[in-house]
Amino acid sequence: MVPFNKAPFTGDEFEYIRQAISANKISGDGRFTKLCNKMMEDRFGAQKVMLTTSGTSALDMAAVLCGFKPGDEVILPSYTFSSTATAMVLGGAKLVFVDVRPDTMNIDEKKIERAVTDKTKAIVCVHYAGVACEMDTILDIAKRHGLKVIEDAAQAVMSTYKGRALGTIGDFGCFSFHETKNYSMGEGGAILINDPEYNERAEILREKGTNRSKFFRGQVDKYTWVDFGDSYLPSDINAAYLYAQLMHADEIFNDRMTLYNDYLKAFKPLADEGRIELQHIPEGCTHNAHMFYIKLKDLDDRTKFIEYMRDSGVMAVFHYVPLHSAPAGQKFGRFDGEDEYTTSESERLVRLPMYYNMDKKDKELVIDCALRYFSV
Ligand SMILES: *Cc1c(COP(=O)(O)O)cnc(C)c1O
Repeated sequence: MVPFNKAPFTGDEFEYIRQAISANKISGDGRFTKLCNKMMEDRFGAQKVMLTTSGTSALDMAAVLCGFKPGDEVILPSYTFSSTATAMVLGGAKLVFVDVRPDTMNIDEKKIERAVTDKTKAIVCVHYAGVACEMDTILDIAKRHGLKVIEDAAQAVMSTYKGRALGTIGDFGCFSFHETKNYSMGEGGAILINDPEYNERAEILREKGTNRSKFFRGQVDKYTWVDFGDSYLPSDINAAYLYAQLMHADEIFNDRMTLYNDYLKAFKPLADEGRIELQHIPEGCTHNAHMFYIKLKDLDDRTKFIEYMRDSGVMAVFHYVPLHSAPAGQKFGRFDGEDEYTTSESERLVRLPMYYNMDKKDKELVIDCALRYFSV
């Protein structure tokens, strides 16, 4: 069976993990955590990067840092992972779901402004499949209405919008290093803070509400509980795994991109014939080959495709039942305007196996099976 995903592994992880253990520093903010933060700050041009225990906890941090008050609203797409929404609920906000664009499955920037009320405090843009939302338009709306912008860049590490790294454009960016993402540490993530005003509050929030980070820098002589906090420091063992991944970031990127382009070449003719639709990469955006999906005719066509692929030894999957139709989505939010594309487009989408270092034979099997489905 060709799996849908395999955790990325380069071979150097063992050595760095050994070093982390030998240094007798396996809790948070050790050598590898610092190295990873610094590497990402340099590479992405980020003001501040802090590793977290997950992409979800990075979103939790962003939501708390926004400082929502009861009744405040946050605008977000409904076609996303539960984390995007549940973090905003933790932060105390009401959810206002907005439709997606069918070409990228990202929030439709043209439908955001009509959802803005005097309660709106933030927009969460999810860069689905590592492809950027229309950030200039979103930033313009945010500026005119005084809203914070949180980028859920969980899938978008190494993607860009007009030359800028995704995650560094809004007020906060959130990466995920879950094993299903391009770069991994098992479970983990990072928050990117783009306004230095939030640095100190973020450190306190991440360190159980204490000013421990200041203490370690010698800025205060003892540390104490100063504000609400939580525990978002990953173990340095996990950071050591990520360090190996970041050291090989280009190699992983190029390998995924080759697979993506091979898929693209194989399926482009079907798209040209109108049999399927492919992902659109807007002008000025570069993606990171996080995902390769195709859109079939409808739900029935997709169900048949997934079954056909499974019977041929390939795991192809769909995901995300739109959140506004889920029990918690109904409890915590509402959909603004008409669901023109979110539900109907999500029902057509299927993802093909996509991971670092995929066997060439497996790749060929995926392509052959899929093409055979369309030839009958
Ligand atoms: C993976 C993902 C998350 C959550 O990341 P975890 O590290 O699994 O907590 C959040 N949002 C999106 C869009 C994701 O794909």
